[in-house]
Amino acid sequence: MRNKIVAGNWKMNKTLKEGIELANEVNNLVSKSNNKSVVVILGTPFIYLAEVNKIIDPKFISIAVQNCASEPEGAYTGEISVEMIQSTGAKYVIIGHSERRAYFGEEEQILNKKVNLALAENLIPIFCCGERLEEREKGIHFDIVKNQLDKALFDLEESEFRKIAIAYEPVWAIGTGVNATPDQAQEMHRFIRNLIVERYENETAESISILYGGSCKPSNSNELFANPDVDGGLIGGASLKADDFFAIINSLTG
Ligand code: PEP
Repeated sequence: MRNKIVAGNWKMNKTLKEGIELANEVNNLVSKSNNKSVVVILGTPFIYLAEVNKIIDPKFISIAVQNCASEPEGAYTGEISVEMIQSTGAKYVIIGHSERRAYFGEEEQILNKKVNLALAENLIPIFCCGERLEEREKGIHFDIVKNQLDKALFDLEESEFRKIAIAYEPVWAIGTGVNATPDQAQEMHRFIRNLIVERYENETAESISILYGGSCKPSNSNELFANPDVDGGLIGGASLKADDFFAIINSLTG
């Protein structure tokens, strides 16, 4: 059985006070519902980690960070290592988000280092992949995603690979209000799962959670999550409102 996952990515939003309020609201909603069938993750900014960690009930909610350093330690001013992240109680790390790729020049080689470091520190990578609009228009979206997975993930030993989650996030859908259609999402998720079957065992492919990300909101999450290969979502904008985020979590339960 694959984990059903809804992970929020707050990005560079909210003050500390607002972040605490949001974490409190989500925690209240999720813990009152007493529903453990969905893994709920809050992707907070680094500097709120310790505070948010005090608020959440770990029986219901885990914390992700949105990035990690590509070096284990040392003179890298401003960077945050996987060991530092692990020491705060965070469990997940989002790696390869398209905003990191686009604005910070992160490419597969560096992402591969981050994935390996995270796994070595017992953090679970949520590895993001996805094509840009022009790549979809050229019809090369499958090649793009295959190349991302080949270079960043597929050198992992099977036992390590089994620990990760993948988020398919078409870049043209992130923050634009235009989501992939359920058919487009299912088609790419199936493609990704088939790549995993080719590289590893069928059983491994069946155990990996593949999340959809890109303008997922309460009005479309039901139909996106109804697809057999969509195991949940990585949620940006809609994770900033507790009610919307909770509605998305509930649509995965239903
Ligand atoms: C994201 O940032 O990963 C994301 C999916 O953003 P949004 O939901 O706002 O499109």
